[in-house]
Order: sequence, then structure tokens, then C-alpha cells
Amino acid sequence: MKKIAVLTSGGDASGMNAAIRAVVRTGLYHGLEVFGIRRGYQGLIEGDIFRMATTDVSNIIQRGGTILKTARSQEFTTPEGRSKACKHLQEHGIEGLVVIGGDGSFKGARELAGECPHLRVIGIPGTIDKDIVGTDYTIGFDTAVNAAVENIDRIRDTAESHDRLFIIEVMGRDAGYIALNSGIACGAEDIFVPEEHTSISDLIKNLRYDKKRKKLVRIIVVAEGDEYGGAEKFRELIRNRFPGWEVRTAILGHLQRGGSPTYFDRVQASRMGYAAVNRLLEGGNSEMIGLQHGNIVHIGFDQACKKNKPMDLGQLEMAMVLSS
Ligand code: ATP
Repeated sequence: MKKIAVLTSGGDASGMNAAIRAVVRTGLYHGLEVFGIRRGYQGLIEGDIFRMATTDVSNIIQRGGTILKTARSQEFTTPEGRSKACKHLQEHGIEGLVVIGGDGSFKGARELAGECPHLRVIGIPGTIDKDIVGTDYTIGFDTAVNAAVENIDRIRDTAESHDRLFIIEVMGRDAGYIALNSGIACGAEDIFVPEEHTSISDLIKNLRYDKKRKKLVRIIVVAEGDEYGGAEKFRELIRNRFPGWEVRTAILGHLQRGGSPTYFDRVQASRMGYAAVNRLLEGGNSEMIGLQHGNIVHIGFDQACKKNKPMDLGQLEMAMVLSS
């Protein structure tokens, strides 16, 4: 293998730049030619490919987002789209591709690896949701949770000062890891995640109990994908049941995405980028680099693309006990 390429795909996540840097520098260290592909699979379809030098990744380890830019591409989900992508890789003589993204990106990578002759593909989990099977960690999660924690702490200050109930919506359409972890870290009184059934009767019971014992401040953290709905739905419900209560909402949204990556994201992204290139050189294909019990592992895309990473719901129970 003489030429490899790297792209970022799906939602951006802080730490992707550290992974790109590691892929480029590890490739160059081994004497490979390294190419960057802009705007994920869409850029690959359009042939937006350029040769990368070591200076192209200088001074990026501390930057959020992705210097390669990212995109979602409907065209790539079709065999015709992937055939165009394959053609561009072949024109450049690229035989190894590193895809940094989420499980959707890995499904695409698996298809491409199966259809494009002489191409091998390795994935690096880069998504703030931490919802990929086979890895304990995904790049961007730590930075996103820390951003949520910082903002929830600020909101608690004002909630305490005014004796208010706040419902804070954090990111997580299908996964509640940000809600669970920021909720625990901020001492939230209630946490709602997509992985568990939302019991409105329990919520009302808890609120009645708080009213009786005059606990006036309450922080509720809800993942955007909760089955009952987002923060506004919860506010409507509580206002109807407890007229006169001061209920406020805050939707943290994209505040959680950007920003300088934490040391943890930078280190894990560096380890994964380094491992991805070494795995390509060892002959690996259609695999994701993951982290299990602190160790770097590689897992087939078939496993990594499985839906529904199980959540340790015991932690939700613990959070309720600790905030009671
Ligand atoms: P995030 O977790 O941040 O959303 P993701 O990688 O899961 O990241 P997706 O939008 O699901 O984000 O996928 C990124 C891209 O991967 C899609 O825009 C599409 O081009 C490609 N892709 C997704 N699913 C498939 C599939 N089943 N077959 C082929 N390509 C796919």
C-alpha cells in the first residue's frame, strides 16, 4: 500500500482534527502518500481530493470541528454514487481509506469496501453521541459532555437564585449518553433518555413530593430524542399540572458540538488515528478502531453497525438516589 486517504463524515465532533493529524503524520512516517478528501462522501463523489503534507495538519490538534469539513450525502447511499467515489479513488491510486464518523458513515464504508476493487477501509468512531457498538468511547463525546456540564452549572446558578424549575434539553436523537452523564455530573433531579421508557406518572409523583417538602429548585435533563418529546413538551405538561410554577427551558443545541477538544478527546483521537493507519498496513479491512477497557481494538463494521448500544440503566437509578 502506497497511498491512503482520510475523510470526515456525518456530524462534526471535537477531536476529529486530532484524528486527521494522527492519520496524516502516521502515514507520512511510514512513507505513504496521504490524501485528504473534503466534505465526506459527497466530496469523494465529486473528486474533491488533495495531497496532504505534514504542515497541513500543523496547529489543528486544539481546534474543534474538522478541517476537512463534513457532509451527509444522499447520493453515496446509492450504488451509482459509490461507483463515482470508487472511480476517483482509483484515479488517484488510493488503496487505503480512513473514515472518521458515526455508524451511518461505517455502513457506507462497508458498502464501499465491498464494491471498490483493491480498496481497504478502516473506520474511526467520531460522534458526540457515543452510541457505537464495540467501542467504549467515540471522539467528541467528552468535549460535548463537558460543554453541557458547564452550561447546566450556569443555569443552576440562576435556578437557585430564583427558585425555578429548569428543563434542559441536550443533544441525543437516538442516544442518551450526553443526558445521562451531564445529568449525573450536575446533580439533575430527573434525567430522561431514549433508552428508557419515560414515566410521566413518576415525574408528577416526584414533583408533588418536592412541592410538599418545599424543594423549589429542580433541574431536569432531557435528551432531544426522548420518547415523550423535548424540553418544550415537558414544560407544557408541568405547567398544566402545576399552574403558577416558574418553569423555564433551555435547549443547549449546537453549543455542545464546537469548542476546543478536551485532553481526553485529543489523546483518544491521536491513538485511534495512529492505530487506523497501522491497521491498514497490517492488512485490516472493513473494520473500526475502538477502545475497550482503555485498550485499542479493531472490530468488524458488521458488529460496529449494529443498532442499539445497551445503556447501563443502573446509572439512572443511581442518579435519582444521589439527587433525592
Ligand atoms: P452522526 O452519528 O454524527 O450522525 P453518522 O456517520 O452516523 O454520524 P449519518 O448521516 O448517518 O451520520 O451517515 C453519514 C453518511 O454516511 C450519510 O450521509 C451517507 O452518505 C452515508 N451512509 C449512511 N448510511 C448509509 C448506508 N446504509 N449505506 C450507504 N451509505 C450510508
